[in-house]
Amino acid sequence: MDIGVDIDGVLGDLVGGLIVVANEKLGLNLRLEDYDEWDFYQTNYGVSTSWVLNAMDEAWERGLVELIEPGSAKWIHDLKSQGHDITIITRRTYKSHPAVTAWLHKQGIKYTTLIFNGPGTNKLDYPIDVLMDDAPTIVEKAKKHPEKSVYLLDRVWNAHVDTHQPPFNVSRVKSLEQALKFLRRFSGK
Ligand SMILES: [Mg+2]
Repeated sequence: MDIGVDIDGVLGDLVGGLIVVANEKLGLNLRLEDYDEWDFYQTNYGVSTSWVLNAMDEAWERGLVELIEPGSAKWIHDLKSQGHDITIITRRTYKSHPAVTAWLHKQGIKYTTLIFNGPGTNKLDYPIDVLMDDAPTIVEKAKKHPEKSVYLLDRVWNAHVDTHQPPFNVSRVKSLEQALKFLRRFSGK
């Protein structure tokens, strides 16, 4: 099986880093729990998407992104040892690619393939069988690939997504640990 794993909001706490950068730029004093929706800064502070993407790049380049679940590298390694392929797939913009690649190395996260997918592309169009993601927008994309499974990581910004409605190939999981350990039941090839 080829297992796709997103980075922002799944492996790394990008929002934690983004809040630090955005607080500085906008003169705010927000905390992690204040960030409660997808497109939070565009909706509440009227900034553009490219402003947010630049702030995200800065968070990565300044080393402000923490690993969310400390066991991630081990669980991914276990699945790889079992014969699965691991595709790390992220819509990171060009400027942060070196920082993200170095971060994966520093965390000891070993993968088969690393994909930086562009805007407007569907991660599920890539040859992966399963995807771990946190974006509420992944649900619409999952409808185009009923043969693939999506594990939606439980985050405040996707809390409104009802996974008991179609498409039924999206399942909500509490943690990456829960999803990756579940996949260990399946044989690697
Ligand atoms: Mg994400």
